[in-house]
Amino acid sequence: MTDSHAWLSVVSDSTLESPDQPSPTGPPDHHLETQFDGKQITTGETAPCHHCGDHLHEGRPLTARAYRHSDEPAYTIATVYCAGCAPVGLGKTTRGCDDVLLEADLGLAMAGQTHWTILVEPTIVATG
Ligand SMILES: [Zn+2]
Repeated sequence: MTDSHAWLSVVSDSTLESPDQPSPTGPPDHHLETQFDGKQITTGETAPCHHCGDHLHEGRPLTARAYRHSDEPAYTIATVYCAGCAPVGLGKTTRGCDDVLLEADLGLAMAGQTHWTILVEPTIVATG
């Protein structure tokens, strides 16, 4: 037999002393939220609610559903809902596709004469 038992006890002692390591059980969605901050929703100055058709203006809260196929680098905004029509969860999700439901405020960006609506301070509600 070898002295592997003593070696194992040294390793476990050192892994306990790692206060700078990010916790594996920490919030998993912060990185995801940064992907959506400032992301374009639609062109123009308003975004229509997918359910009731209400036109959402700058500063209005909204819920958006986004998806990303496994071979794509970025998410695509699929649908936008006003606060009154927001779904409570993702419901049916697509196989081979990352789905995200998020809440955000509607922001307005512009360049020259062109306006487009963007997500401001997004918060992930559900992923699937
Ligand atoms: Zn609506």
